Amino acid sequence: MTTAKLAPAYIRAISPYLPGKPITELAREMGIPVDSIVKLASNENPLGMSPKARAAMDKAAAGIERYPDNFDLTRSLAERYGLGMDQIVVGNGSNDVLDLAARVFLAPGRSAVFSRHAFAVYPLATMASGAECIAVPAREFGHDLDAMRMAIRPDTRIVWIANPNNPTGNFLPYPQLRVFLKSLTQDVVVVLDEAYNEYLPPADRADTVAWLKEFPNLLITRTFSKVYGLAGLRIGYGLGSAEMADLLNRVRQPFNANNLALAAAVAALDDHVFLADSYDNNRRGMEQILAGLKRIGLSHIPSHGNFVTFKAGDAAGVNQRLLKQGVIVRPLGNYAMPEHLRVTIGLERENARFLEALEQALA
Ligand SMILES: *Cc1c(COP(=O)(O)O)cnc(C)c1O
Repeated sequence: MTTAKLAPAYIRAISPYLPGKPITELAREMGIPVDSIVKLASNENPLGMSPKARAAMDKAAAGIERYPDNFDLTRSLAERYGLGMDQIVVGNGSNDVLDLAARVFLAPGRSAVFSRHAFAVYPLATMASGAECIAVPAREFGHDLDAMRMAIRPDTRIVWIANPNNPTGNFLPYPQLRVFLKSLTQDVVVVLDEAYNEYLPPADRADTVAWLKEFPNLLITRTFSKVYGLAGLRIGYGLGSAEMADLLNRVRQPFNANNLALAAAVAALDDHVFLADSYDNNRRGMEQILAGLKRIGLSHIPSHGNFVTFKAGDAAGVNQRLLKQGVIVRPLGNYAMPEHLRVTIGLERENARFLEALEQALA
């Protein structure tokens, strides 16, 4: 009580992030074996990690007594994107980079704009910095860019945009996003979170990194947690102008990304076979799950990520009945979507298990 009072009111107002239920936790609760559980709750890569990344990680373990050096990853990313090394910010997951952006640009008396059903970390990072959240009503669960532009106030310093968005899967065509960027004055930073970028079909992609030249107020974040399969290592990055990266690097912990993660990330970047397999598995699995949802008669939000969000009616009840069958998906009550569930695209047999369990849960 008294200790809580020592924290600023804006910290006390935060409700913690709700992660997907860990497999081990469900196994303990239900008294069922870990192997019998299918977890499709956290948009993890069902193929695991790249074998090349694993080999690099194992090798790096030999030098674990040393503090990490992020030079190799920074250089690899700079080469990959044709940027200067001074335009890269390495993060302990891209979440870390989002947090750095909030710490750099937000403070009490400032505000940040985001779409109502956007990624949960945006309100969290905004609130932790003492700034005010401006959650803009969505359009069919996606970003309403016109409404977001109108919501920007003189004290707004960040606009958070996830494209594709999690948990809804919505995608903003890049030409629209570019028009939006052009319409803003440069005294507001746009954080463009592209955690699912690698899952976009080639036709939908755009070279957003090339936009950095034009928009010094743009920060792009990407991650090794999704298509690269390294969620547990915690490694991601931000790309921006040198000035932007310099600001973020000032508040970054010097050793925020660890040796194993750095080594694995460098190797993963070049494992094109693993990436292509992950992409293909996702495309096939998406078709499988969408066909299943259709058969069952449930509607979904068109998704451009490695997950799909569908309407389950009494989603809390359905979720409970899925858990009883050892299937973990993500309820979205904390995203103000109490009738929806989000399922990650898994392996073919995991998807089949999910669809079977879902039919049971609805029966
Ligand atoms: C998963 C996800 C991230 C990535 O988080 P990491 O910290 O890199 O694991 C970032 N943004 C969105 C929208 C996500 O869904």
